[in-house]
Parts: sequence; structure tokens; C-alpha cells
Amino acid sequence: MKEQIYTIPVNEVYDTDCACPLCELEKRIETESVEYSLGAAMMEPDFRVESNERGYCNKHYGMMFARPNKLSLALVLDTHMIEVRKKFDELKKSAAALKGAKTGFFKKSNASDVAEKLYNFGKNVTEDCMVCKKVSFTMERYIDVILYMWATRDEFKEKFSRSKGFCLKHFYEVCKMIPKSLSDADAAKFIPELAEKEGALLDALQEDIHKFTLKFDYRNKDMPWGTAEDAPIRTIEVLAGSINENES
Ligand SMILES: [Zn+2]
Ligand SMILES: [Zn+2]
Repeated sequence: MKEQIYTIPVNEVYDTDCACPLCELEKRIETESVEYSLGAAMMEPDFRVESNERGYCNKHYGMMFARPNKLSLALVLDTHMIEVRKKFDELKKSAAALKGAKTGFFKKSNASDVAEKLYNFGKNVTEDCMVCKKVSFTMERYIDVILYMWATRDEFKEKFSRSKGFCLKHFYEVCKMIPKSLSDADAAKFIPELAEKEGALLDALQEDIHKFTLKFDYRNKDMPWGTAEDAPIRTIEVLAGSINENES
């Protein structure tokens, strides 16, 4: 049975009129895990070991920095920096070893190997993230629960049919889970409904974003906005996911 810790929030977001229920759930998890990282997790040795090792990404450091508790943030950064510098010290040695390398037509230095290691180091430090890891794990559970409830509960099927679909980022994540979470027969029923919903969402957005551009023509100044006034943000959020998370 799918645990209530997932079914309750899913039902809650489907009871609202949000643009993408998965964006809403993702914002919640992000906020909760940022709060946790700077709060209760400070006392969890296992979490601290992993957080020191992995750190956080740009977006989630942004959310952490926006919170008032700068001491927790500084403690997290201080111990993470120890691990970052440990890894860099090793690479510094490999970099320094290149100095005396004898190179020639037949003998290449291993400069490109060292460059690659330095590249991987920088990429891992900037991209690896405790919050992203938690988000991706939990979102997979939520998507599985959405598909499970769609297949097994008429009441949820009804709620789903009234929803607007998903932003495209979550749309593809849902599509990825379909073969794992639904039987072939259910998938063959779910996919047409999802595609129809998504198509209607894209059509409506196009209509609004086009209307938005027309409003800038003085001849249309009296044309009512209808639902087009916030079309740019809604279009961006469907094409690429929410861009307002840092405000929460
Ligand atoms: Zn979304
Ligand atoms: Zn992150």
C-alpha cells in the first residue's frame, strides 16, 4: 500500500487550482529540506557527514542564504569547506607534479588527465546537492503515488481529469515513471488522457502569450486582457518549471 505521507499531500495539491501539482509538491519539499538542513539536521551526525561531503547547489544555497539563520549556514559551509579543500589538496599535488614533467614528441604530460580531474572536482562541488537528492527521491515517490491513485481510485481519477496537466519538466518525469508504475493496460488509458490534457494546456498558453503580444499594439489597447495578463510567467513555468522558488 502506498503510504499516507505521500497520498495526503498529493490529494491536497490536487484540491487546489494550481498550474502544476508537482511544482507545488516540489516547492514544499525544497522548503522543508532547506529548513531541515539548517535546523534539525545540525544535530544529525549522519546527515552532517553527507552534507559536508556533498554540499548544495546554487539554487538551494540561495534558499538557505535567504533564511535568517546565518550561523547555521556558516557552520554548514565551514565543515563543507574542510571536505572541499581536502579533495582540492590532492588535486593540487597532481597539478604541481606537472611542473617537472618532461614532454616531447613521443612523451605527453598527463596535463589533460589533471585538467579533467580538476573539471570533475569543480563540477561536483557546484552541482552536487543534498536538497536536490531529497527532492528527486521524494518526487519519484509522489509521481508513483499519482499514477497509482489514478489507476486504483475513481475519486482521484476524477480530480486528475479536472487538473490542468503538468509543466513540461514534470510532464517528462511522469512519462519516465509510467512504465514502472502502471500496468500496460492502464498506461494505454492514461497516456491519451495525459497527452490530451497537455495539448490543451499548450494551446491555451499559446493563445494567451500571443494575445499578450497583441496588447502592445495601440490598436488593441481596449481589447480585454482575459487570462493573458500573466501569460509570460505562466508560459515560462510550463516550459521550464517554476522560477519563483527563491521567494518562498
Ligand atoms: Zn511542474
Ligand atoms: Zn539543489
